[in-house]
Amino acid sequence: MSDCIFCKIASKDLPSKILFEDEMSLAFLDINPVAPIHVIVIPKIHIDSIDEMKEEHLLLIGQIHLTIKKLAKELGLSDGYRIINNCGALGGQTVNHLHFHILGGRQLQWPPG
Ligand code: AMP
Ligand code: ZN
Repeated sequence: MSDCIFCKIASKDLPSKILFEDEMSLAFLDINPVAPIHVIVIPKIHIDSIDEMKEEHLLLIGQIHLTIKKLAKELGLSDGYRIINNCGALGGQTVNHLHFHILGGRQLQWPPG
């Protein structure tokens, strides 16, 4: 998707602070962190949101969760962290390329706003 900022980050046309990359996925620092640790993990292929998930994406999205677990460990989030996937306008999604937030480094509250 030519006008998608996360596709541009995946193709390195837009700079980002990359923490992890493999053939399928990329993890980078959120530009506007809301916690001491705020990482975004994306599939390199464009998927609008979980609403567009298909069976062919099962391995990809499962792999992303293993990456999240590995990153959380590397980032020292041994006391816990939160994985967030905002889906659609009412879900708070502002970038329409599937992504998972990793938030950690402070006590997170519940419920979210
Ligand atoms: P969401 O609101 O769930 O769609 O999350 C989008 C996230 O992407 C927000 O937390 C933004 O701060 C973050 N974001 C937007 N543009 C960039 C960028 N160029 N580099 C890193 N993070 C970004
Ligand atoms: Zn995209």
